[in-house]
Amino acid sequence: MGGRISAVGRRLAHRTAWSVLGAVVASSLLLAVVLGALGMRVENLHPVLAWAAVASAAVIAATLSALLVYQVVRRQIARRLETLAEVLRGAEAGEHLRRFEPGEDDEFAAVERAFNALMDQFAGLAASALHSDLMVKWAQSELRLREELLAKSNELAAVNEALVRKVREASDLLRIAEVASASLEMGRLLDRLGRTLVDTLAVEELLVLLPDPDSGQMRVRHAIGVQDVHILEGSWPKDDPVVRRCVDEGEIQYLSDLSVEPLSADLRGRRRVGGSLVAVPVRGPGSTTGVITLLRREAQAFDSQELDFLRLTAHYVALAVSNATLYRATHERAIHDSLTGLHNRGFFIEAFEREWHRSRRADVPLSVLMIDVDHFKRVNDSHGHGAGDIVLQGVARLLRARARKADLLARYGGEEFVMAMPGTTTADAAAIAEAIRASVESTPLPVSPSNGAPPVRLTISVGVASDSLSDDSPEALISRADMGLLTAKSAGRNRVVMRP
Ligand code: GH3
Ligand code: MG
Ligand code: MG
Repeated sequence: MGGRISAVGRRLAHRTAWSVLGAVVASSLLLAVVLGALGMRVENLHPVLAWAAVASAAVIAATLSALLVYQVVRRQIARRLETLAEVLRGAEAGEHLRRFEPGEDDEFAAVERAFNALMDQFAGLAASALHSDLMVKWAQSELRLREELLAKSNELAAVNEALVRKVREASDLLRIAEVASASLEMGRLLDRLGRTLVDTLAVEELLVLLPDPDSGQMRVRHAIGVQDVHILEGSWPKDDPVVRRCVDEGEIQYLSDLSVEPLSADLRGRRRVGGSLVAVPVRGPGSTTGVITLLRREAQAFDSQELDFLRLTAHYVALAVSNATLYRATHERAIHDSLTGLHNRGFFIEAFEREWHRSRRADVPLSVLMIDVDHFKRVNDSHGHGAGDIVLQGVARLLRARARKADLLARYGGEEFVMAMPGTTTADAAAIAEAIRASVESTPLPVSPSNGAPPVRLTISVGVASDSLSDDSPEALISRADMGLLTAKSAGRNRVVMRP
């Protein structure tokens, strides 16, 4: 405003001047009216009264002026200041939308416009502050959501991984169960189970240990990935801590670091590679019969899930081994004669047929002995049927003692036996038949298990025949040996008869 008189000041001065002028005129008029009413003229008044009248008029004029000026000041400044203060207080209290409507173009109007502009700017700032506040909140909530999402997706990934592992485990178990149930023959079963375990668990070495019937020690029956002859041919003592715990407790044993495990002296010597080993019990019906060991060349190489898997596997192995054991027992019963323990007629006929064809293909001789106990009925008649059974067992023992590994010896029926001898000519077969006959004749056979009663002496008759090109079936060879036997009987018994 430098130097210039402000618009408010000018207006104030202007109105003050008019107010004072108005007050002077009004008080002069008032004085004139009062004097007129009193019927006096100023020039007739006593000078003292005249001055008193003028002084009164001046006082009235001054009072009126002061009142008018007060009113003017109040109207022009105080009220507008009050309004300004009120609006500013409102703004301070948060009434950001209230604005002035500037009227006359003076300093107040300038302040009011400035206020309006300030409030507009403030509103803009507040809006942008609100916007940025919202943005920050949104960003924060997005961040939180992302974190939650990440945590959830990690959780999901873990669940997924666990699921995948479970599915793989289930399919591995299924494979093992399939393998376990697919083979009833013990050797093949253990071999296939071993291979499946090696594939499934990616172990470096696998051993199947089964007790040796003679020594009772664990011997290696199947091995995968093991070249060391000492391991393959050695035995695992039954008192080895691993074997003992596995067999006694029927639980899998985990040796996480072979280099620090307490092993038996035998195993310590072989502990050349170290690593970690799991021993899985192979349970038969009733008790643990063997052990499967799985080895990885690193220590602590099996995790708890793999151990759980092996525990489940042990159940399948146990089931399969039980089945195989039962199958073997049933099969053994089916092909053996329960009284003498020799093979039975059914087994002989099948095996003989195979042998007959094999010998023909290989162009090697094949001879058959048909053997019948002479006058056996008399044993039963004089000592009873039970004694006859024991005597038949004695005859079977003598025959078995003369049979070679490749020979097929069987009880053909009643007191009749048959022996097929692959790779044996008629002459050799006749010599063997003669030796058997002589041995039966010279060996007294007990009639009771306790040897209380005196033994009996018996003889046998034997028919011998060898494979001939004129035979067109295995039965033809059997029937020629049979004919030889009949001839021996009719010729007086206790003899060997060869049929060409
Ligand atoms: P041969 O010299 O003519 O052969 O006279 P054998 O008495 O031996 O012959 P036979 O065929 O007349 O009698 C065979 C006897 O063998 C009759 C039967 O009761 C007896 N036998 C057959 N199987 C068994 C068996 O498992 N146990 C007993 N104790 N006897 C049997
Ligand atoms: Mg007889
Ligand atoms: Mg007979």
